Amino acid sequence: APPAPPSAVRQVKLDKECELRVEVSPDAPLRLRLLNGTAEIFGTEIPPQIWLNFPPRFKFAVRRFPSWTVFTWYGATIEMDGTTETDYTADETPMISYVNVHAVLDARRNRAKASPSDSDLSQGPRVIVVGPTDSGKSTLSRMLLSWAAKQGWKPTFVDLDIGQGTITIPGCIAATPIELPIDPVEGVPLDMPLVYFHGHATPRYLILHRKTFCTWSLLVAYPLYLLVPTFIHSQVASLGLWAIFSVLYVFTPSYVVHFSANVDLYKVLVKELAQILERQFAGNVESRAAGMVINTMGWTEGVGYELLLHAIDTFNASVVLVLGQEKLWSMLKDVLKNKGNVDVVKLQKSGGVVSRNAKVRQKSRAYKIREYFYGLSNDLSPHSNIVNFSDLCIYRVGGGPPAPRSALPIGAEPATDPTRLTPVYINRDLLHLVLAVSYAKEPEEIISSNVAGFIWITDINLESKKITYLAPSAGSLPGKYLIMGSLTWYEP
Ligand code: ADP
Repeated sequence: APPAPPSAVRQVKLDKECELRVEVSPDAPLRLRLLNGTAEIFGTEIPPQIWLNFPPRFKFAVRRFPSWTVFTWYGATIEMDGTTETDYTADETPMISYVNVHAVLDARRNRAKASPSDSDLSQGPRVIVVGPTDSGKSTLSRMLLSWAAKQGWKPTFVDLDIGQGTITIPGCIAATPIELPIDPVEGVPLDMPLVYFHGHATPRYLILHRKTFCTWSLLVAYPLYLLVPTFIHSQVASLGLWAIFSVLYVFTPSYVVHFSANVDLYKVLVKELAQILERQFAGNVESRAAGMVINTMGWTEGVGYELLLHAIDTFNASVVLVLGQEKLWSMLKDVLKNKGNVDVVKLQKSGGVVSRNAKVRQKSRAYKIREYFYGLSNDLSPHSNIVNFSDLCIYRVGGGPPAPRSALPIGAEPATDPTRLTPVYINRDLLHLVLAVSYAKEPEEIISSNVAGFIWITDINLESKKITYLAPSAGSLPGKYLIMGSLTWYEP
């Protein structure tokens, strides 16, 4: 660990049931250790005396969890070394109510374990955490999973948040078994996640092709231009218009995000994931009894609310934890009361939860993609590969507006069915896109197949018809079919 000036070392004494909230500094690392007592970070106990290193926030770490909390049930002394953006202790936390939920879940797991042969009773709790963005859903999911793992359960973590998920890169829904308390620094282990690729960081995306966008802007701009009094209609003015148009064209990302919905695809993928897990549970008494913890998107209104109901239904959730939104809680309680056996529980949001603005969220998405290729601390070495256009079969899955005609085979009609597949012809617009490598053996299987991993397009040579991409490892891809969405990444 880097040596820090001695003045930066300080001790914090925490009383029982209090927490130390730390927001990591943007550019300086922080380390911290437990001197005495016991304490945990997001549900994972920290080992005594060992320094834990937190990288600075903006180095290559615009992290999913830029702020931390060290909570103690019985009292502890913490030593910190380095600078922080802010740090303070809080004695008002909702932790007691969270751990009470855990106790109830634990009892249900034990009950499930006691009757392994009964198909209904052997099912452990299926918990779904819902609430608005930045209400602490991911944090609560993490704590519940870590507490369960500490007691020897192997619960399944399902993350349905395609914008700010914690299992894999954005644009995906995923599931993974949690066998050990989640490491406070490293996060969820990524051994064998089951991943489905949606391709967009929100189901609300619609992709508008750059050329379409610019043509439309021009169509709008021209009548406005005509309204300008004639004496300004000099060459300067028309040059100005063209200059603005050119700037717009060059600086508009090749895919502009617009408002619409690719909700149907999202639902289809949620269903696929639920079915696979159901099958896995059928053959595994242990994970069946441990149940699952499902994290959701922060979209709770309108179609977002519909998607929550869809997820509750599809996964057969038995416990719905509602964070920080009274209205959502009463709506869900009302709707689900006829369903029987679904507990809808209202929980308080922690005062420590930090809201992240759109820019921070965008950065954390980019960071997550960087982490996929380069590792948490630059410890992975991805490979750059060059292949012929004809070696890759790229498909776009319905949704959003149809693919630009220029990207389609001649005569093909742009897709409108949300799950219809359209082959994509390679052109410069694919540059910087992140594509998923499907396990599908046939194009028809793409929707229902999970993905093996991702590649990032770094160069397209139209003359030699070669495409250069970055992949986690060298060698051929684990599948022939690639899925394209609107997920792009620009290496910082
Ligand atoms: P959501 O999943 O609902 O969007 P998160 O669980 O990601 O919300 O919480 C938002 C942010 O708040 C996270 O980045 C996390 O670092 C921070 N956070 C959550 N709980 C605490 C806490 N008790 N103390 C300090 N920071 C916290």
